Order: sequence, then C-alpha cells, then structure tokens
Amino acid sequence: MTDMSDRMKRYIEEANRDIEKKKQYKRMMKSYKFDTIAVHGVYSIEEAINKGHGGIIEPVILASAQAYKDSDELEACQAYWIPRWIYSRIQNPTVSYLEDVLSLLETYGTEHDATAVCTSSGIAAIKQAIEPLVAHLSKRDEYVNFVSAAQIYGGTFQLFNVRMRERGVKVHWVDKPWDISEWEKNIDKDTRFLYGEMPSNPQQCCLDVAAVANLAHKYEIPFVIDSTLATPSLMRPIQYGADIVVHSLTKTIGVDGAAIGGAFIARHNITCKYLTDDIKKDYAAWVKLWPARDSGACMHPIAASYFLQELRTLRIKMKQLSENAMEVAKFLQHHPKVEDVNYLGLDKNPLHNLAKKYMQVVDSNEEAYGHLMSFVIKGKAEDTRKFLDNLKMIIIATDLGRIKSLAIIPAISTHLQQGPEARKLAGIPDTMIRLCVGGENPDDIISDIEQALDKI
Ligand SMILES: *Cc1c(COP(=O)(O)O)cnc(C)c1O
Repeated sequence: MTDMSDRMKRYIEEANRDIEKKKQYKRMMKSYKFDTIAVHGVYSIEEAINKGHGGIIEPVILASAQAYKDSDELEACQAYWIPRWIYSRIQNPTVSYLEDVLSLLETYGTEHDATAVCTSSGIAAIKQAIEPLVAHLSKRDEYVNFVSAAQIYGGTFQLFNVRMRERGVKVHWVDKPWDISEWEKNIDKDTRFLYGEMPSNPQQCCLDVAAVANLAHKYEIPFVIDSTLATPSLMRPIQYGADIVVHSLTKTIGVDGAAIGGAFIARHNITCKYLTDDIKKDYAAWVKLWPARDSGACMHPIAASYFLQELRTLRIKMKQLSENAMEVAKFLQHHPKVEDVNYLGLDKNPLHNLAKKYMQVVDSNEEAYGHLMSFVIKGKAEDTRKFLDNLKMIIIATDLGRIKSLAIIPAISTHLQQGPEARKLAGIPDTMIRLCVGGENPDDIISDIEQALDKI
C-alpha cells in the first residue's frame, strides 16, 4: 500500500463516506418504532433511487459476483479496504438488507449495536455462530466444552451431541435450565460458551435469560440463545445481556413456509476471554468476512427477499398467532379428554411467571407466548393416534412456526429415534400432541380439535 494511487485513495474516501452515511441512516432508523423498522429496514428512498431502479422494495441481486471499475477497485475490494459484496458466497446486496434489518430489530429498545449474518439454514447459523468459539482447541490431550440446555431443537441436539463430539468438543447438558444453579455446576475452566433456547419445544421450556447471561459473563464467556419461536417481536435477548442470538428464519419469521434460512446476530463487544479485542468488537462481521466465507453456507438472495417481506408484518402476525394459541390452550385446558396442556401462557404453567418476565408484544404491555404448545390426551397411545387421524383442517407435519396449524405426535416422529428411555427422561409420553397454532380463525381450529377429540 506504499504507493497508493490517487484513484485508489479516492475509492477509499468514497467508501468511507458511504459507510458514514449508512451509519447515520441506521442511527435514524434506530430512533423509530419496531414496526417502522420492520417495514422499511435500511432501504431508504435515496437508496431506492440510486441503487434499486426506484423500486419500492429491496432489489433482488441474483448475480454471483460484482463487476469492478478498474484494477484499483478490484484490489481495494479483495483486500477488504472498501466494503463491497465481491461474490455472493461472501456477501450479497439483498442479503445485506436483511442482515441490517435483523440487527436493528434484535437490538430494538437498547443502546447496543449488533451485526447479523444470514445463512443457508438455521442449523448453519448455529454452527457458524459457535464454531469460532471452540475453534482454538489448545493441546491434543485437552478438550473444550460448552454448556447447553437439554431442551433444544432436535437438529441442534444432533449437532451438539454427535458432530461437536466427533471433533473433541464436549457438551454439558443442563436438565433444568430454569434453575440457574444447574448451569453453574456444569461450568469449568474449559467451558467456552453457554447455550439455550427459548421457548423450546415440545415441552415449552424457558430460562432466566438475564441470569444465564450474567453467569456467562462472570466466567467471561458468551451466552448464545436461539429465539426462533419468540422472534424479536416478542423477545429480544440482547436487551437482557445475551451476546449472540440465533434464528431459524425458516420457522416463525418465515411463517408462510416457502424458504429455508437462518441468521445469527451478535452484539458489538461480546464477552469472550478466548477472542482478541479486535474480533470481539464486531464478532459477526469478522465471522462473515473470514470463517463464514470458508464454510460456504450462504443465504440465497431470493430467500433474503422473501424473509424481508415476511418481517414487515412480523409483530401483527405474532400478536395474532399468540392470541389464537392462548384461546386454543384455554379450550384444551378445560376439555375432559385432555390430561395436561403445556403452554407458557397459561397461569398454571410452572414457568409462566418466568416467561412473563421476558415475553410481550413489542411496543405494548401485552403478554404473548408464541404459537407452539403441547398437550397430553387421556387414554392409550392409540387414542392419541385416533385424534391425529381425525383432524380435518390441521395439517400433520413435523414442521412448526407456520401460518397453518400443524400437529404431530412427537413420540412417533421428531422424538422417535431417541427411543422410549430418552423420551421418558425428556417427559415426552406416547400420548402427547405437539400443536403449532396457525392464523386460521381460532373458532375453526378449536372445532377441528373438538370433533377429533369426540372421535376417541
Ligand atoms: C428448525 C429449527 C432450527 C433449525 O433451523 P433450520 O432452518 O431447519 O436449519 C433451529 N432452532 C429451532 C428452534 C428450530 O425450530
């Protein structure tokens, strides 16, 4: 860089001006309410006119790579002296719009700034978020570990229990993640991070986000939390001290069910004694430019565009879905053929008060607990199968987080492979139904459930 040409200097100056402008715009967006941020993101009128052919929504840039003006711009981009997108595995303009809006929504109402990285799936987001935290395995005979709530998504369980173990990273499970002392018991000098999910399925588990974050920070390690089912419209864990939030955008955020994608959002200056200050300053940006480009699990721009559209109405949808779920849960609670209903919104749920502390519709005082629940039907396993077989509108699918109501029997689907012993430990009887309540009129959802229960 000794004899940098004037042209090169000009590119760098221009880039710095762009960066400053973008920062100012983001700062302005941060002063708006949640819905305004969700609707507009960082796609300004000026941006639309200059970069989007005037279109009112973010353009979808399908190109695999960008073209450069000349050799100086080529070099400046490749050296990361100026921020350009280069190649869609590394960065893509449409994906960037989504990353920026997600970072604003997850830090909404806080002084924090954050950076988001979008990925090809939720699992890829989890893997990319945690990989660098365990990357520097010290000596051969040493191992590192992390501590995780046992109640997590099945695919994440597999990633932790099988894939991480294969490479010498152990996971210490916390069976009662709502009890903070259970976490501390599992932390030792080789613990790299804490991991939780809230709310989790099918047993509706939740944790004391602030307490777990404080504990992690006491040991100078980060707290990573999957808040896929809450979405930033109901809970923003960074506000309570979490360092990194992960999402399967495939699920509740992409509620209509037409794309697979994920994201992780790291606040700036995460707590982590194993990383350099330089990396901690903007962990997600570093992951994106270095380890993520080498993993290749990038998001497709069409998926990014799709998630941008879904986000605009996120709060309204989550409010409605939570209300529907509450109505269904109350109906089930009083039904003579139902033994038990597990929904965080019900007063009688032992974790209700803990969930209440963290989950509300953003910009209101309204409680809201999302749309997932489980319930146990009285009688034998065959009776529960009969219930499922008689549903007329509710779809049988292992999916969740949808605008269409979905139901399954976990014991014969999502939790089949772990066997009866493990199911017993996890509290999943053969008579349990997992129900994800959709956006249909709740009267119709309830009558479908009622007629199927009548058939038993
Ligand atoms: C589905 C899911 C994931 C994994 O997401 P994919 O997009 O399917 O890879 C992670 N966490 C939770 C809570 C999920 O429901």
